[in-house]
Amino acid sequence: MTRVVVVGHGMVGARFVDDLHARDSQKRFTTTVLGAEEYEPYNRVLLSDVVAGRMDVASIALPRGSHKAGHEVLPGMTAVLIDRTVRTVTDQAGEEHAYDVLVQAAGARARVPDLFGRRGADDLPAGAHALRTLDDAREIVAATVNARRAVVVGGGVLGLEVACGLAGRGLHVTVVHGGAHLMDRQLDAAAASVATARLTALGVSVRVGARTEEAIVRGGRITGVRLEAGETIPADLLVLTAGTVAEVDLAQRAGLDVARGIVVGDDLATLADHRVFAIGDCAQPPEGGSGLIAQGWDQARRLATRLTASTPEEALPSVGTDVVKVKGAGLDVVTMGVCGVPRGEAVPGRRVQLSDPDGGRHIEVVVDDGRVIGATCVGAGAVAADLVAAYTRGTPAPLDPAQLLLRPVAGSAVPAASPVKMPDRAVICRCNGVTKGDIVGCWRHGSRSVEDVAATTRATTGCGGCKDAVCGIVDWLKQTDPDQPAQAREPAAAR
Ligand SMILES: Cc1cc2nc3c(=O)[nH]c(=O)nc-3n(C[C@H](O)[C@H](O)[C@H](O)COP(=O)(O)OP(=O)(O)OC[C@H]3O[C@@H](n4cnc5c(N)ncnc54)[C@H](O)[C@@H]3O)c2cc1C
Repeated sequence: MTRVVVVGHGMVGARFVDDLHARDSQKRFTTTVLGAEEYEPYNRVLLSDVVAGRMDVASIALPRGSHKAGHEVLPGMTAVLIDRTVRTVTDQAGEEHAYDVLVQAAGARARVPDLFGRRGADDLPAGAHALRTLDDAREIVAATVNARRAVVVGGGVLGLEVACGLAGRGLHVTVVHGGAHLMDRQLDAAAASVATARLTALGVSVRVGARTEEAIVRGGRITGVRLEAGETIPADLLVLTAGTVAEVDLAQRAGLDVARGIVVGDDLATLADHRVFAIGDCAQPPEGGSGLIAQGWDQARRLATRLTASTPEEALPSVGTDVVKVKGAGLDVVTMGVCGVPRGEAVPGRRVQLSDPDGGRHIEVVVDDGRVIGATCVGAGAVAADLVAAYTRGTPAPLDPAQLLLRPVAGSAVPAASPVKMPDRAVICRCNGVTKGDIVGCWRHGSRSVEDVAATTRATTGCGGCKDAVCGIVDWLKQTDPDQPAQAREPAAAR
């Protein structure tokens, strides 16, 4: 038996354990998982929907494998020490867990800006919250009951999702962002100004180029924040969305290489110890950590395959895993590939733009060698869906790339996102690497609903951004292939 100890029972640690047992046909592995959180693993990506009131906590549980034998989970148990000489992990209760293979999947924690003197994330004044865990989301939702004014510190993707969610709950929200404009990692100034106008229309105030200097606390409670420029913004709720910090302390104390994350090679093993691996948000692979779930789930699958098989499995093609979508009610922003490059600076290939601030739209497409290599879409839902399809599938771009900026007139052509035109290899669920062919395979083996497809392939169980596309394919199959008999071969299994 090979004893595998996993530190962290989040989205990636849980997926790794499922993948490992599913591939371990000879029952060669036992797994012990230490999870600092008390809960069953849940879909962290959907916490902003919980804050917005679009989902409740009960509906974000992750689907789990059915393995029981040889698998132990210790919820609410933090790993405090790794001893690589005797190959043990010690938990907070002092118990030692011996391993042959150690997998670190400890994720990341919210970065807490220096606004509170010496206080860290676990010691914030009443009314101040980060958003990383289920508890954080619950506390923010509870705080909205009595709060009227909220300040969100950080105008990146998560900050905008939170701002929209709180505004939707009726709070007056101000986003304070230190960068020159919102989402400056993904948007250029022109795109950001359209997004800012949209936020303003939703009742959200925006301060950019503004650094928070100090949280104002009276009687142990947040009453506002002071900006470096001197302005004070009153608030009874302060939400910190200023980035994340990889959990590396345990690895560092164990003498492993750490930089922004735990440094691993292409094989996901740490540089100093081939028995110790790191995956998910705590890891720093050669291509860099993205902080996105598709990368962590791909690593989980690769590591499970590597441990159970003699030939290592290739990474899924990385194209499409950098699509960023703001999950904010009333704010529609999608970026991918080459984006956010200021006007006047060179990009590879050619870029075309539709700038329509009065219509609340801004679309930019970058095309190189006949393919879409990047795009920015603000306020352009259907066009954004087509561009994501073109980008992730690498379909040929039209000779005149300006045609990508608008949808074809109804009836004149089949849009790129239509299942009719889609090749079987087209990736539909980027988080889980599920293709159209996988979904059609499911249908042929008896799946008849989106829920069936999700249970078999895991499509839709990540960020949920592919739900419309999966529904579209299932509806298309209902019409075109209603009586497809079940075939003898195995259904397309979750990968
Ligand atoms: C609100 C929000 C929205 C997001 N939206 C998106 C999105 O739209 N798309 C996207 O791709 N990604 C999104 N993300 C990022 C995504 O959630 C992460 O990439 C993903 O959760 C990483 O999984 P992980 O298992 O590596 O880390 P985590 O999910 O953070 O899990 C790590 C687990 O390890 C535990 N742990 C830490 N230290 C120890 C220890 N010493 N002992 C035991 N347990 C420990 C932690 O408590 C945690 O439970 C979002 C994140 C947040 C917070």
